[in-house]
Amino acid sequence: MVKKIALEEHFLCPGFEGYWQSTVGDVDPKILAQVVARLSDFGDLRLKSMDAAGIERAVLSIAGPGVQAETDGRIATRRARDANDFLAREVQRRPNRYSGFAHLAMQDANAAADELERCMTELKFAGCMINGHTNGQYLDHPSLDPFWKRAEALGAVIYIHPTDPVTPSPALEGHKGLRRATWEWTFETGSHALRLVFGGVFDRFPRARIALGHMGETLPFLLWRFDSRAKLYGIKLAKPPSEYIKANILVATSGMCSAEPLNCAIAALGHDRIMFAADYPFEAAEEAGHWMDDVALNETVRADIAYNNAAKHFGLR
Ligand code: ZN
Repeated sequence: MVKKIALEEHFLCPGFEGYWQSTVGDVDPKILAQVVARLSDFGDLRLKSMDAAGIERAVLSIAGPGVQAETDGRIATRRARDANDFLAREVQRRPNRYSGFAHLAMQDANAAADELERCMTELKFAGCMINGHTNGQYLDHPSLDPFWKRAEALGAVIYIHPTDPVTPSPALEGHKGLRRATWEWTFETGSHALRLVFGGVFDRFPRARIALGHMGETLPFLLWRFDSRAKLYGIKLAKPPSEYIKANILVATSGMCSAEPLNCAIAALGHDRIMFAADYPFEAAEEAGHWMDDVALNETVRADIAYNNAAKHFGLR
């Protein structure tokens, strides 16, 4: 088994169940109870699953949307801080196995920047995860420039996690099976990242970095088309869109145990920007781990994707 760092591994802390359950949809209550048990556990259940998958270190993040769905900004800021303190205590119990991503209330750009800085400097977190839009506001909004400025200065990677869109697309009407993780979240989250690219966030903050799960939410597959259409439509950016995607976006394999999109992501972005993730407990860590062990790759590339790239980009060991 190749040793691994897993980047998109979720937990729930007390008081956050309500936010999370709003995005669950129709799931068998028995399965739901098992998922909640796994989300709330930091001991045997999680560690056994990590061991079976060859995961040395899991970077833990709140199962979304968390305070991204909180309508009261002050409550959001306070609860995000409490959640980060909770996670820091769990990480402290097993510092060799766990690291943390900060949970941030983007309702207030300056408070979010302060909390990111506190989490990275005092709590030694690896970066942050933002669960998509905050009550309909995306991360390219100009009011968030102070946040990007601080994130860039800290060298923080902002991991953008899928969430439900503000309103479901009419194109999915009548097809419940296409909602959420099947297809809806890919479009929602890929669009979020493209808003940052096309909105010039990386022109304003050239060293800002984001991460996307699910093998890049289809972006690596579409680079040529983004460039071709951006030119045709006269989009005013310093570089073609693909250049930002290659320079400012990192990609994790979460929830995608499949060689074709992995090879596409490697070919499009370079293997040093691709990193392993399982998306526990929504996906089986064992399946993801065994897939990473077995998928056809040069052994140096496998070791980099499984461990070394995350160690380098997130300052983990
Ligand atoms: Zn996830």
